[in-house]
Amino acid sequence: MTKPDPIKYSVVVPFYNEQDNLPALYLRITEVMDAIGELYEMVFVDDGSRDATYKLLLEIYEHDQRVHLVRLRRNFGQTAALKAGFDFARGEIIISMDGDLQHDPAEIPLFLEKINEGYDLVSGWRAQRRDAWLTRQLPSRVANLIMAKLSGLDLHDFGTTFKAYRREILAEIQLYGELHRFIPALASWSGAKIAEVAIKNNPRQNGKSNYGLGRTTRVLLDLLGVKFLLDYSTRPLQFFGLFGLVGTSAGLAISFILLLKKLLLHEAIMIEHGPLMLLGILLIVGGVQFFCLGLLGEVLTRIYYELQHKPIYSLREVKSRHEKLPDPTERDAGPLHT
Ligand code: UDP
Ligand code: MG
Repeated sequence: MTKPDPIKYSVVVPFYNEQDNLPALYLRITEVMDAIGELYEMVFVDDGSRDATYKLLLEIYEHDQRVHLVRLRRNFGQTAALKAGFDFARGEIIISMDGDLQHDPAEIPLFLEKINEGYDLVSGWRAQRRDAWLTRQLPSRVANLIMAKLSGLDLHDFGTTFKAYRREILAEIQLYGELHRFIPALASWSGAKIAEVAIKNNPRQNGKSNYGLGRTTRVLLDLLGVKFLLDYSTRPLQFFGLFGLVGTSAGLAISFILLLKKLLLHEAIMIEHGPLMLLGILLIVGGVQFFCLGLLGEVLTRIYYELQHKPIYSLREVKSRHEKLPDPTERDAGPLHT
């Protein structure tokens, strides 16, 4: 028996109550992908839909062998649904998009063109947005700006899920929370080459968006989390220690001055400098706590990296004349500090 040909492309789409959009989307995807002419599969994820989405997905699955169905037990949210799809996708190149027809499959070839130019990740950029300005566009602008600054990655649009990836890039990234937005930032940490293509942003035709303003707060908090993970996850003491150092030294200085006043000038410190004394004490106590937090962080990071055998680097290629290369997934976390 010959081995089946490797699948070149996987199109991953999460669906949550998208019964009205699903059939049209499926047809458009197949039309576009058939025209490309390489072996492909579709990984459709049902994120606990409560309408007829799953029934329709089953029907499609029955008559199309290229379709894989992943059904989550309940609604886990877009990030989890995407991650489930990624886990089951076997293509060399993975394309992710929304299931509500806001992304047009006809634009998939633009992404693949960039990938073929040698990029590892190609991200869609909604050059002209059609969402509500105040609740969606403005927060997203601000978040994108902050994100670009923090991650040092010059992208216009971190928010859209319309993207193409080489599979190795995804395999290395842990997704949770609302983190799917930050795949480019996390990938760029791994050294991925990233490009952006302008896409259309079609208004939602059927059903309504699952998100509103509430999402912005969560995204902003995630942003902080990602920034911390990217910059300090292997050295929390350097982050918290700085606050600890500044706090403790300021507190000690204040207390020392007050002590001198007491001893040399016999001033009634409590009465004359009460607030200042309190500040000194607070700074010392707070500073020491920051230190402890940093130390605890150090211990946690070690457990985290060692348990997961999470590499602290990411390889693009290895060339060696050794007979058998070690399996990168089994490589040791190694020393954490460089
Ligand atoms: N989605 C999902 N689980 C959810 C919410 C959304 O799988 O809990 C899917 C949804 O079906 C769509 C995509 O994620 O395919 C984007 O969702 P939506 O259109 O609601 O977000 P927006 O476009 O407003 O950012
Ligand atoms: Mg949408």
